[in-house]
Amino acid sequence: MKEKAKNASVLLIYTGGTIGMIENTQTGTLENFNFEQLQQYIPELRKLNFQIDSYQFDPPMDSSDMEPEIWKKLVTIIREHYDQYDGFVILHGTDTMAYTASALSFMLEGLNKPVILTGSQLPIGVLRTDGKENLMTSIEIAAAQDINGHPMVPEVCIFFENHLMRGNRTTKMNAENFNAFRSFNYPALAVAGIHIRFNPVHIHSYAETREVKAHLLLDTNIAVLKLFPGIQENVIVATLAIEGLKALVLETYGSGNAPRKPWFIRCLKEASERGIVVVNVTQCNAGTVEMERYETGYQLLQVGVVSGRDSTTESAVTKLMFLIGHGYSATEIRERMNQSIAGEISV
Ligand code: ASP
Repeated sequence: MKEKAKNASVLLIYTGGTIGMIENTQTGTLENFNFEQLQQYIPELRKLNFQIDSYQFDPPMDSSDMEPEIWKKLVTIIREHYDQYDGFVILHGTDTMAYTASALSFMLEGLNKPVILTGSQLPIGVLRTDGKENLMTSIEIAAAQDINGHPMVPEVCIFFENHLMRGNRTTKMNAENFNAFRSFNYPALAVAGIHIRFNPVHIHSYAETREVKAHLLLDTNIAVLKLFPGIQENVIVATLAIEGLKALVLETYGSGNAPRKPWFIRCLKEASERGIVVVNVTQCNAGTVEMERYETGYQLLQVGVVSGRDSTTESAVTKLMFLIGHGYSATEIRERMNQSIAGEISV
């Protein structure tokens, strides 16, 4: 099924993150170094039979400083170089990689080429680094084509520790181990062992006539609120009273359940009536919100809370930024949160 692309070209966009860091011998802290230095640590890059060009952020950034403005910059870089390259690899810090991957999946409508985000838990200069493997395989995947010369994976993905995952389905779930990311609610798109085994049935299909369209409109008037037993009315009231707030991602229990206290339900009802979109996402890593299942979820449905289904919080947040940014009404946003834009929810 698969065939390595001959003379494929890949644009490597280096934003920063642990993968490109080196230890300051005096302070012991990790500091950024540049792409040329990065290449010195991976001489194998030159052995790949692809044209690899690079675009470097200067200075490189820790992904904890990630902002929607940078997502716009990434989307613009990809759009401007779209016709020149077969695929794109983004080197990115792991901390917010799942947010960036989710945002890019919405912002790059009609994407027909691979955009693979990767990084590492250990800097590239460290002997046991996971960065080398992650980077080399990401480049191979970005260049991989089928027998018809079409890209194997024309979508935004994260590749980490041998697994290729749909970007908007991933979550960083381990700050220590090499398997930092998981896609709990969607199968891996490929697994890399001796061979890279793709799962075409789970991958967006390529369409000859599809035109990529870059969207740069995002609105950040969003809040995320995680429920916990004992949460007080003033916390909910203050959150929903934030000036300019347009949407709230509510992290609920289990299959979308929340306290039955009358003040809680009243607060959400009033917020919905004021046009604030409240999206119900479960605190569980795996599984889906089913508000019809228990009374504690059903009453949320009745006061206008919309189901986030099996969405990750990262995906719900960035999808809301995208939809609000495009000026949709609260009613339209509620409808679209229940539709898949880029495979981010199971419908
Ligand atoms: N703080 C780093 C970042 O996200 C962590 C990493 O790269 O793994 O940029």
